[in-house]
Amino acid sequence: MDQEYKEFVMTQRLSFEERIKRKNEFDASLVYGTKEFNILTQRDRHIEDRQNNDDYWLDSSSGFVREECTIHRKCPLCGSESHELIFVKSGFKHVRCLDCTLVYVPRILNEKEYEKLYEEEDSWGAVLENEHQKKLQSLEGAYSLDVASLYADKAQLNICDIGCGPGRLLHIAKERGNCVLGIEPNKRYNQSLDELGIPHINDFFPLNLNTHQSFDIIFTLNTLEHLPDPKGAIEDIYKILKPEGLVYISVPNIDALVTRVLKYKSGVFGGHSHIQFFNAATLSQLVKECGFEVLEYETIITELGVLWNDLNFQHPYLGDSKDNLGFLTPEMIYRNHLARNVNLVARKVN
Ligand SMILES: [Zn+2]
Repeated sequence: MDQEYKEFVMTQRLSFEERIKRKNEFDASLVYGTKEFNILTQRDRHIEDRQNNDDYWLDSSSGFVREECTIHRKCPLCGSESHELIFVKSGFKHVRCLDCTLVYVPRILNEKEYEKLYEEEDSWGAVLENEHQKKLQSLEGAYSLDVASLYADKAQLNICDIGCGPGRLLHIAKERGNCVLGIEPNKRYNQSLDELGIPHINDFFPLNLNTHQSFDIIFTLNTLEHLPDPKGAIEDIYKILKPEGLVYISVPNIDALVTRVLKYKSGVFGGHSHIQFFNAATLSQLVKECGFEVLEYETIITELGVLWNDLNFQHPYLGDSKDNLGFLTPEMIYRNHLARNVNLVARKVN
């Protein structure tokens, strides 16, 4: 590592307190309030959309999803068939693997149904393109870049974001002088990426690998939880990283306090879209088995407003509780890795 750059990095290393301050700046519950943010970003419309459509695949006579729309899979982390049922939502079983503890959906939509789902879905796209959402995502993107850069060995990097959406993170990375590439299957973001001058390709896992491309850092945010084969995705990432390259992953945290309190009521569960749920331990296991060493993990997004609502008998996402239960603080949430998403940085080692 370049000595001067190493010294620069050491002075930039983020303390726990500095991290909380930065994380609070893009935490919607704390910046806007839960109800206000959900209405401002049209999440209320997305929630309604989901309530109308989530039972689309349900066979009401059996209480489970229709067999002809689905396929069965083993544990996507360890391959075991041995699991216990946690709950059923919209006809989709959610189970915990008895061997590796991963929580996952064993009967998932088949390829044809997935294609239909993502072609027709537009209420979430509208959420992501909202100005308030973009503002918070830019702050989160800058934070993620800063954390990943702590482990990089030079200032100018070759950065890829897989599932980049409208490209907030890559826009900041590009402004800072890095070389960037966005990989995104949904063509609705092409215009936004073009406007920001971000080179991009419409692709997704399994990647059409081009051996001429290699990256210093690959980001994949809120993506792995959607994939039938998350291990295959990390193996693809391994192949297009430079030696000792970094992967930065963000996924919903099954250990999050908000998820444990809301359980099946949590918006993170639906069955059709999010099909596995990691925590720091299972996400670490995934990357280690694919040839990475874990450098750090932490959690982000407290969801404190949702917790305050639910614990005061209000609608968790649309309630407006003013009773903030003094013991539930960002410090407590972060100290115990209880926030909504778990973010992990790992280095390619062999
Ligand atoms: Zn397993």
